[in-house]
Amino acid sequence: MPSKYLIIGQGLAGTLLSFFLRKEGIEHDIIDKGHVGSATMAAAGIVNPITGRYFTKSWMFDTLLSALDSCYTELSELLDISILEEKTIYRRLGSPLAENQWSSRLVHEEYKAHDGGMSQINEIEPAFDNEYYAGIKNGRKVNIALLVSTYRKLLKREGCLIESTFDSSDVDFQSDYIRYNDESYQAVIYCNGAAIEHDSLWSSIPMRPAQGQSLQVSLDISPGWIVKNKYFLAGNPDGTYWTGGGYHWKERSTQVSETFIEEQKKWLNQWLGKWPTILDKRAGIRPCTPDRKPILGKHKQYDNIYIFNGLGTKGTSLGPHFARIMANVILKGKPIPEEVDVLRFY
Ligand SMILES: Cc1cc2nc3c(=O)[nH]c(=O)nc-3n(C[C@H](O)[C@H](O)[C@H](O)COP(=O)(O)OP(=O)(O)OC[C@H]3O[C@@H](n4cnc5c(N)ncnc54)[C@H](O)[C@@H]3O)c2cc1C
Repeated sequence: MPSKYLIIGQGLAGTLLSFFLRKEGIEHDIIDKGHVGSATMAAAGIVNPITGRYFTKSWMFDTLLSALDSCYTELSELLDISILEEKTIYRRLGSPLAENQWSSRLVHEEYKAHDGGMSQINEIEPAFDNEYYAGIKNGRKVNIALLVSTYRKLLKREGCLIESTFDSSDVDFQSDYIRYNDESYQAVIYCNGAAIEHDSLWSSIPMRPAQGQSLQVSLDISPGWIVKNKYFLAGNPDGTYWTGGGYHWKERSTQVSETFIEEQKKWLNQWLGKWPTILDKRAGIRPCTPDRKPILGKHKQYDNIYIFNGLGTKGTSLGPHFARIMANVILKGKPIPEEVDVLRFY
């Protein structure tokens, strides 16, 4: 039986899974069609410990944080790039109710590590407004687009990147191996993000893809801030800013719309009194699931077909922990936590 694996898709999911296979010395190829509509390429890479109207600590946050810190540090060393930054995230409170909500959370021990105070941030950076913002400590910003593009160069150098579009109908599925492109593989792992919604092999998964758009801009304010007002504004290490987001559940366009660009420009100008210079624009489709949990596991009918997908809106934090679990499932037959098992959709 062949001992080589085939990963479909080299977004964040495919890249992280490849990294964990590589650590175990497992031979594999990755096929990717070139990141069109890739969520990873459009993302800010923010890891936000506290989310939602009720200021709730993110699901499994402490476990995910320790996994992501060590994984992205190892990847930075392997690729000789700097991608991981620890950040305080400033979130506009906007009402006494929100201020009370955040204050009441801070009574609990598990929230205290994230208390970065409440302040008018224009006292530190005059460009911002005079509203009250909660400083949320222990966030991260990870340059996942740089990670994926640099890892791609490594795959190319090592001859394991197939730059092409994968089509399930070209695969010869045998009981204990698969044939694709004149090559035999022990198994294939679908890491193809939102494109999974069009694959008949996985039609029982009720994906809820969400398109989002982003801009890279230069702005005349001090570098490095991550601020959530109406949208996120997130500083990059080179002094530029990422801005955007938005959830368009029915949209599948991979183009950034003029309406979005105008809206962002207007918002930044109203908020900061400055017009941004636009350096780049991207649109991506997030592979979201109805229960907002990732999808790991084996196809119900075929033993040599796996899936690692559903990273949704939080791939940066979910990716490292669950990619390691997925590698252990494939290589060592370890069990899959029930709440993320693909079998929940059958
Ligand atoms: C605007 C925006 C902002 C975001 N901000 C954040 C954030 O701040 N923090 C956070 O954690 N997450 C964020 N996300 C979500 C995050 O981007 C995703 O969770 C994550 O990137 C998903 O990775 P993925 O590899 O599953 O999918 P993708 O990045 O979409 O990768 C899928 C890959 O599969 C390939 N592919 C698909 N079909 C085929 C085929 N048939 N043949 C060959 N290749 C194929 C594609 O080329 C692509 O490279 C954001 C997303 C968007 C759109």
